[in-house]
Amino acid sequence: MARIIDGKKIALSIRQELKNDVAELEQQKQVVPGLAVVLVGLDPASQVYVRMKKKACAEVGITSFSHELSSETSEVELLKLIDQLNQDPMVHGILVQLPLPSQIDESKIIEAISPAKDVDGFHPYSAGQLMTGGPGFWPCTPWGVMELLRVEGVDPKGKSAVVIGRSNIVGKPVAMMLLAAHATVTICHSRTPDLAAVVRQADIVVAAVGRPRMVKGDWIKEGATVIDVGTNRLDDGSLCGDVDFVAASERAAAISPSPGGVGPMTIAMLVKNTIVSAKKSCGLA
Ligand code: NDP
Repeated sequence: MARIIDGKKIALSIRQELKNDVAELEQQKQVVPGLAVVLVGLDPASQVYVRMKKKACAEVGITSFSHELSSETSEVELLKLIDQLNQDPMVHGILVQLPLPSQIDESKIIEAISPAKDVDGFHPYSAGQLMTGGPGFWPCTPWGVMELLRVEGVDPKGKSAVVIGRSNIVGKPVAMMLLAAHATVTICHSRTPDLAAVVRQADIVVAAVGRPRMVKGDWIKEGATVIDVGTNRLDDGSLCGDVDFVAASERAAAISPSPGGVGPMTIAMLVKNTIVSAKKSCGLA
């Protein structure tokens, strides 16, 4: 039976460490990290995510500045707000909750955020830095995946890693991070023939698809580590991951559940990026 990778517990211990960092920063430099959280519209899932992020910030002592805008907000209005937040010295990180309403071009908004405050790590500059191995903010979910591996003592070096999904926010960046950690990486997607056969070769599987329990237990190599990024809502309202957790647990050496795996890590890494940005603003990082 696989060891369960408890993302909730790992994220909690990270947040506890970060709380000390915030206290130290305030003591040494009288700087309180600030995160601007921008929500446009009333998407219920986005409202839940934003609430969770603000709660996590409050717990560690980060100030969050909430901007809840109507679903009618224009692109120009949102760009104006981003510009103000870019200039605001109290704001060290800017989070624009996605998705945005259709009248707003998401890529324009992401590109308007100053890379110095891009704590979500979605700006093309941050993506380029990740690709070329330079300094910059790493996107939170893929970084959370890497932290789970690190804390669990799973070193990707020399291992075969298969990432299922090639989105800009999860699949591609996590593949880059695994590559930087010296894994041999294969990225799969909806056009990959015989996905099962590819996954069966993997020492590390990262599933980021968005299809409930698509990855079957018998796709998993004996002794592999499985990280399930998928968060899927079922008809009965419950959540499940992209991996058939029960069956995969019989073969994997370690597996992260969903919920309770990557989700809490995403928020912890957002908090961490915001603190790093605040430290950088006063020359401490
Ligand atoms: P996207 O929809 O942007 O990407 C999904 C990827 O899965 C695409 O690359 C797609 O391929 C691929 N895919 C779809 N169907 C198949 C298939 N049958 N076989 C192989 N590959 C397939 O999703 P995201 O990357 O944004 O999110 C993925 C999952 O992770 C979702 O469940 C999401 O909710 C979750 N998530 C969780 C987060 C957390 O904090 N825990 C944060 C972000 C996401 P193609 O490119 O060919 O279309």
